[in-house]
Amino acid sequence: MPARTGAQFLAGLRDGRELWVGADKVGDPMDHPALSGAAMAIAGVFDLQHEAAASCLMPDPETGEPIAVSHMIPHSREDLVRRHAALEKVAEFSVGLMGRTPDYMNVTFAGFAGRCDEWAINGNEEGAANLVAYQKLMARQDLSLTHTLIHATSDKGRGNTPTGLDETQLHKVEETSNGILVRGARVLATLAPFSDEIAVYPSQPMPNAAGGHALSFSIPMDTPGLKFLCRDSVSLPKNSFNHPLSGRFDEQDAFVIFDNVEVPRDRVFIDGNLPVYNSVMSRSWRANAMQQTMVRAQTKLEFAWGVACRMAETINASDPVTMGMLGEIWTFAELARAAVHSGEQGAMEYGNGAWFLDERPMAALRAALPFWFPRVNEIIRLIGSHNVLATPTAEQFADPYLRPLIDTYIRGAGNVSAETRARVFRLGWDFAGSALASRNEQYERFYLTSGARNQQGAQMRADRTRADRLVDRFLDEGL
Ligand SMILES: Cc1cc2nc3c(=O)[nH]c(=O)nc-3n(C[C@H](O)[C@H](O)[C@H](O)COP(=O)(O)OP(=O)(O)OC[C@H]3O[C@@H](n4cnc5c(N)ncnc54)[C@H](O)[C@@H]3O)c2cc1C
Repeated sequence: MPARTGAQFLAGLRDGRELWVGADKVGDPMDHPALSGAAMAIAGVFDLQHEAAASCLMPDPETGEPIAVSHMIPHSREDLVRRHAALEKVAEFSVGLMGRTPDYMNVTFAGFAGRCDEWAINGNEEGAANLVAYQKLMARQDLSLTHTLIHATSDKGRGNTPTGLDETQLHKVEETSNGILVRGARVLATLAPFSDEIAVYPSQPMPNAAGGHALSFSIPMDTPGLKFLCRDSVSLPKNSFNHPLSGRFDEQDAFVIFDNVEVPRDRVFIDGNLPVYNSVMSRSWRANAMQQTMVRAQTKLEFAWGVACRMAETINASDPVTMGMLGEIWTFAELARAAVHSGEQGAMEYGNGAWFLDERPMAALRAALPFWFPRVNEIIRLIGSHNVLATPTAEQFADPYLRPLIDTYIRGAGNVSAETRARVFRLGWDFAGSALASRNEQYERFYLTSGARNQQGAQMRADRTRADRLVDRFLDEGL
């Protein structure tokens, strides 16, 4: 099947999955008010790839059918530049507010398949072959994937990864005639209601864990025994004036329980093989997947700068403090753009013919963004002050009694109409102050592990040769 349309994507969500939103067990996301807006948005992403086919689609290297460019295994810097253009189109669609649009997992699995040699170690040749076959299927069926990498937290004193066998965490129970039976919990499956399948793969190495926790696989969302508990919705009724963002971009996050789930043999990529589990994410995943996440983040920062500028202009706020804060957001956006550009210019072959970005600028950006995004929200709220809350609704604008009063008293500076003023500040509040904004801030702080951990890891992995040479010059001087 070639790249899907939005209608085909929505039809695929109507299966027997067990998805809980509050007390509701949801069959079809389109039937639930908390989910329908975002379902339509992801459908829009599928339609977009046909509308912008020149940027977003490419021929499958084997069948010639059109597939999403995000499924491409990059073999050159030019391939990465081409992939950038496709990722940017998708990022612009949600102005970076949906972090897990399907291209995130497309890029991740393209990288895994491109470096299948990293998976085919320590006797895992069959798992690696399954992975390569699955990535082709994923591209050809144009699947939307959620994923869960993190062990559920009960007692942080016991560490972030299991010691020995922890029956509450996802683990293998036994072999079956068709594959393996797994049980336990994992967090946190963003995009779960809008996905066809769920993928499990490693995050942190687990030096002290039992082999039964070392699992990687992908299975359909309606596989018996899979249960998804969605967090409280931050979606608001679809109304592009009142809630320009909250009505469409709540991508959801779900706690996942694997309650005796059978995984077919051909969908297993790691089966209790700790050396593979503990090594496979450490070499080229970051250099590959960060292109999608950072193109998205850069797009979001540029949007934030645009919104903040419009807010200031709407009320003619041109004081030095406001200008300085606008400059702060612009600096973040420009540094992010420069880091992605630098990463792409420094791209190289990582092995097996697969090309990914220079990891260094991406690691620095990854460590900075969990601190930049909360500051961006703070700036938008500081510039907005009370104005983000003095915003008549669409219904109030439509009221013939209220409209003349609103037009007279709640207008902007110069020629800025009351309606434009309300639109601008509603956009600012929906971005930086709404429930969606709060969830998104949490996302930016944690979706690639916390900023604190990323700062530690980035500098511990960095090449210190030159830094040492600069310092040693002074330490090695004679007395
Ligand atoms: C909105 C959202 C969406 C997510 N989506 C997904 C998803 O789709 N798939 C998925 O698999 N996971 C997802 N996650 C989970 C995410 O990967 C984890 O939250 C992340 O890895 C952080 O782990 P943690 O929550 O256990 O927090 P921790 O890493 O334990 O951090 C919690 C706090 O402890 C501090 N801390 C802990 N250890 C250290 C340390 N060694 N040094 C310094 N500080 C430390 C941190 O700074 C932080 O403030 C999502 C999380 C969020 C919030």
